[in-house]
Amino acid sequence: MPDKVDLRELPWPALERFVVEELGWKRFRAMQIWQWIWARNVVDIAAMTDLSVHDREQLADRATIGTPRIADVRVSGDGTTKFLLELCDGELVETVLIPSDAPQRPGDLTVRMTQCISTQVGCPMGCSFCSTGRLGLKRNMTMGEILGQVQTARAYVQDTRPEHPIIRNLVYMGMGEPLLNLEAVLDSLKTLEHPRGLAFSPRRVTVSTCGIEKGMREFGESGLAFLAVSLHAPNQELREKLMPRAAAWHLDDLVAALESYPLKTRERITLEYLVIAGLNDQQEHVRQLARICARLKAKLNLIPYNPTPGAPYLAPSPEELLRFEKALWQKGITAIVRKSKGQDIEAACGQLRAAHEERLPAM
Ligand code: SAH
Ligand code: SF4
Repeated sequence: MPDKVDLRELPWPALERFVVEELGWKRFRAMQIWQWIWARNVVDIAAMTDLSVHDREQLADRATIGTPRIADVRVSGDGTTKFLLELCDGELVETVLIPSDAPQRPGDLTVRMTQCISTQVGCPMGCSFCSTGRLGLKRNMTMGEILGQVQTARAYVQDTRPEHPIIRNLVYMGMGEPLLNLEAVLDSLKTLEHPRGLAFSPRRVTVSTCGIEKGMREFGESGLAFLAVSLHAPNQELREKLMPRAAAWHLDDLVAALESYPLKTRERITLEYLVIAGLNDQQEHVRQLARICARLKAKLNLIPYNPTPGAPYLAPSPEELLRFEKALWQKGITAIVRKSKGQDIEAACGQLRAAHEERLPAM
């Protein structure tokens, strides 16, 4: 008996092929199964009640629905919820739900969340400020594992109606470098967008990259999500120090590629800038950032550095952060501080997994 097919690993055309060619069923059955998996979020084939009992048995003989196990959940005082998920081979990845900042209308009790998801177990880029970078790359995540994070969080917060979602936005900013796992990431974005499934418009999804030349062009042409670029340094020398591998693509070339990046109407590229006290928040950096921003249709997000054990960097004080933000505004740059949420639960990228490993007994 061959291994069972994991239905969460099949993008729409592959599921249709499986149903028609492998099972020998009518095409419309594929859409029924698709809706059970993606819109209704069932994890048990027996629950697919518009299939006959006999068909469900036949399907269960051939297929499963892979789901991660929740290994740990932490809820921060500010409502940020962080999950540590165990994949089927025992690897651990993180995903975080962040309550939305958007002002709610009076009387509107709807909770809105943004979910931050991972794309790789670890990351090969080795940025010096990042806990995930310290792990190195263990492996890529599959499409089913990437979206398994979304489905697990949806089940957890009882987000059951795709037409009125609690999880409104997705950011690919968890562990890993999405553009180094491009095929699975693009498949996940196509599956997210499907109107009969999760129905996430590309305007609700952002993919963050440290800047990978080859992947960025293909990703841009797909138009499947907004682009965020982790800049973190406004000159090549500092970028080499903070992000040695990403900086192999020279900053001048990265900025030139962003100048010609295909953007939709009113779309802007998000530049992420980790603010590290005394290192990249000085007046000269303001001037250098101004020169970069003047060339791009971009907005700048300032992220206060969240100290990670072993890294030689300092978090900025609120006053230092404000001074830097003001100096940027004076140069005409729209810079917005993204407050670090969930600091009490080790919510920055890779920190929860790292903390777990420290607590585990040595092998
Ligand atoms: N690899 C991609 C996406 C994942 S990293 C990228 O680099 O863009 C996403 C974000 O995690 C980065 O932009 C970085 O700002 C943030 N991050 C990593 N380490 C951090 C830390 N110590 N404090 C605050 N943010 C951190
Ligand atoms: Fe990888 Fe992004 Fe962390 Fe750099 S910041 S090591 S690219 S996850």
